[in-house]
Amino acid sequence: TIRTIAVIGSGVAGLTAAIYLGTLGHHVRVFEKSRGPGGRMSSKRVSGSSADIGAQYFTARDPDFLAFLELHGKSEAFGVWPARFGFQDTDNSWQPFPDENRYVGIPRMTAITRALSADLDVQAEVRIARLIPQGVQWQLECTDGHNQGVFDRVIITAPPAQARDILEASGLDGLAAKLAKPVEQILPCWAVAAHFAQPPTDRFDAMRPNAKRLYWVANNSSKPGRDDSGQWWVLHATPEWTTANVDATPDEVCTELLAEFAVLTGHNAEPTEMVAHRWLYARSADGDKPGYLLDQDKGIGLAGDWLAGGRVEGAWDSARKLVAAME
Ligand code: FAD
Repeated sequence: TIRTIAVIGSGVAGLTAAIYLGTLGHHVRVFEKSRGPGGRMSSKRVSGSSADIGAQYFTARDPDFLAFLELHGKSEAFGVWPARFGFQDTDNSWQPFPDENRYVGIPRMTAITRALSADLDVQAEVRIARLIPQGVQWQLECTDGHNQGVFDRVIITAPPAQARDILEASGLDGLAAKLAKPVEQILPCWAVAAHFAQPPTDRFDAMRPNAKRLYWVANNSSKPGRDDSGQWWVLHATPEWTTANVDATPDEVCTELLAEFAVLTGHNAEPTEMVAHRWLYARSADGDKPGYLLDQDKGIGLAGDWLAGGRVEGAWDSARKLVAAME
């Protein structure tokens, strides 16, 4: 049966669901609260360039994921990041990451979701508030009260707290109750992008330090196709530090993270530009991995990274499994 299906969210999971449903012949419309697709696989515009402030890279341990990106995206929109990756052990010694292909968008992370969404019907800047039953169908209502259409099936790919809001507002308490634990398990992350005229370090291009504030630091300019003058670095705070400083101002966050970065690199130079971004829902702590959630009778499914291991590849895997289960 050919159906009309709404997909809420245009991150990797939402776009994957929409693409697979489209190839099965369904009529699909994607709703996204932000200005464009990408979700947490995002890039921020900065002077003369852009910096990937969300997902840093992704793996493709399942070769079907690469095949999907090549078939439905553009092969020039992503590639391997040939960086030197290092982590600091508990004894503070530095070790290289295990060998693995780590992929990024070219020339920025959002090139991938832009390519994936090219042939989809994506309604941007529409935040879905609730689903109203219409017989066996669902009417979608956005936060300013407008009717966004009636659909046979609805797929929600928002992070768990936002998905739960929609379910609760729609009286779908059974599904909403399943989200209590995932809501607790998703961790926030303060991100800073900082530009340096001179390289602050040449130890590694990307590092996971054993530090109090910093969880991850990487030279964004070392990714393929960036073509920056100077270097843009991305700094991610640890979940613990972010939680304790969730209400700090962007200026305070820049100062604190930069101070630890200076200790880490031994480089005291002032960045020429800095921006901070707060992710309230960044990554899921290891939890159950059901893959997806589906109420077949009501025609409502949930997909997203948080249902399948908390990474870009997990978001794709969750969405394709949900689509297969819905057929
Ligand atoms: P999202 O990308 O969050 O997409 C959900 C979408 O739903 C969003 O676009 C949101 O705007 C939209 N939405 C929410 N509510 C509504 C609503 N009511 N109406 C309409 N739209 C709505 N993964 C890796 O693999 N490697 C990494 O190195 C890595 N690093 C990360 C670093 C950070 C700081 C962050 C934040 C994430 C990182 N991740 C990483 C995780 C990765 O970004 C996610 O796993 C993946 O992008 C999630 O995709 P998704 O489609 O499940 O969710």
